[in-house]
Amino acid sequence: MKILKLSILALIILSSSKINAQSFKVLPLGIHGGLEESNLSAYLAANDTSQQYVALDAGTLYSGIKVAMQNHSLPTEAPEKFIQNNIKAYFISHPHLDHVAGLIQNSPADSKKTIYGLGSCIESIDKHYFSWESWANFSDIGEKPKLGKYHLDTLQKDSSIIEPNTGLKITTFQLSHGEPFKSTAFLVTNQSDNSILYLGDTGADTIEHSHSLHHLWENIAPLITSKKLKAIFIEVSFPNSQPDKLLFGHLTPRLLNMELADLEELTNAAALKNLPIVITHIKPDGNNPATIKKELLNKNPFQVKWIFPEQGRFLKF
Ligand SMILES: [Zn+2]
Ligand SMILES: [Zn+2]
Repeated sequence: MKILKLSILALIILSSSKINAQSFKVLPLGIHGGLEESNLSAYLAANDTSQQYVALDAGTLYSGIKVAMQNHSLPTEAPEKFIQNNIKAYFISHPHLDHVAGLIQNSPADSKKTIYGLGSCIESIDKHYFSWESWANFSDIGEKPKLGKYHLDTLQKDSSIIEPNTGLKITTFQLSHGEPFKSTAFLVTNQSDNSILYLGDTGADTIEHSHSLHHLWENIAPLITSKKLKAIFIEVSFPNSQPDKLLFGHLTPRLLNMELADLEELTNAAALKNLPIVITHIKPDGNNPATIKKELLNKNPFQVKWIFPEQGRFLKF
């Protein structure tokens, strides 16, 4: 009887701690890596119970929010109100247009907030987009007059900050995206110490003559072994038929599996099994999306869980 009571008590404690452990929700606002200008890389991340999001890249905002409202993923209101009130900060992986166009074009209607990125990314956004020749300087640095709506904040690689409006911890890692261009991976960690990892555009270490991905894998391997990492968002831009010299700092299904092999060596054999890997940044030319999907599903040596995101549909981890 006593044992039964104790085990019931243990069950209650266990299930309540499970309820308290915060999980993540991610709303893809744009999933492609080019062409379709209403559907380019942007992912909103928040704790499951929160309506306060950080944007991981911002290629498409308004159109993605509209789709999310049409399919009842979000309550219906003016999309610009959602941008103003619910996106609390932008984390930009690199300054290519397919990662910032939504942010730039919605800037006149946006509210005051911070744009975070590595130094080279922040400099480029300021110089090329928040310039009076190409648009208007909505930032608080660079060309005068400075409208000061956005605080441009430089992140340091291999270090963490707490985003004050969401309480989410963001750890920054540098990636190589076609020598010598840099991109960024953001590790987003909540108060329950659970994380998701979002990678901006990246090439494979072998092709890039870099150790950036290996360095990232070394850092996140312990989180995979301890089951604290809930998902990896990583790009596969091209199918396997893309020649190495035409990759322009991107991955194919074969190269992604090669990188996962490197990660697997840093964890234990079963650690990657069923780990959600969200495939981002597919270039939608021709049959690419179907071919890439087929190539990934046909070859899954580590039995990860491939996830193909849809614009405006929540993912939960
Ligand atoms: Zn891109
Ligand atoms: Zn890029």
